[in-house]
Formats: sequence, C-alpha cells, structure tokens
Amino acid sequence: MTEKLITIKEVALNNNCPECYSKNGMKLTFHQKFIETKFYKSITSEISHNIECKTCNTKIYPVQWTEDIERVFEYQKKSFAPKKSSKYFKKEFWIGIALILLIPIVIVIIGLSL
Ligand SMILES: [Zn+2]
Repeated sequence: MTEKLITIKEVALNNNCPECYSKNGMKLTFHQKFIETKFYKSITSEISHNIECKTCNTKIYPVQWTEDIERVFEYQKKSFAPKKSSKYFKKEFWIGIALILLIPIVIVIIGLSL
C-alpha cells in the first residue's frame, strides 16, 4: 500500500517568519492523503497542512505561529476546498470479485455433472 500526500493548494503568506523575520518566504501548503493499493486507488478525506519558510528553509510549527499567522491560516482553511474523497477500483479488484463469484458456480456445475 502506498500513501501519498498530494498538494492541493499552496498560498504565499505575507507574514514575517518567526525564525528569520523575512517577509518573502512564508508558504502555507494544504495536502490531502491519497492511498493506492493493488486493488484500488483512493482519495481520503484526510487533510494536512504545513507552513514553511522558503527563505530560511524552516518548517514553522503551530507553536511558533503568531496571531497574524493564525488568522491568515484560519481564513485560508475556510476557503480551502478539498477534493471529494473517492475510491476507484482497479481491474485486479474486479477480477478478484469475479473469481470469488465464479468458484461456487464452478463447484455447483462440477457437482451436477458428476
Ligand atoms: Zn524564515
């Protein structure tokens, strides 16, 4: 099973970085979890987000957020539209189902012909 976080939205923030105080590098990113197995691909409703400063290459954790950052984040979160969660079954899944359904039929047929 592979789990991937796909980037759904990236917003450049005008806030000062709590680390280097630069105003040019703050970026808020929203991710959505995507799962792929042998049988299906699925977009989950699991959302994650992070704020990073591109100037000093630091991840800014919520404990470091200033009030301004929090306000901008709340605003962005409200306007963020995640992808609808969905599941898509692959061919392998349907072949598996077909086999499960076929086996009893085959057994019955063999039983009848004996
Ligand atoms: Zn910084």
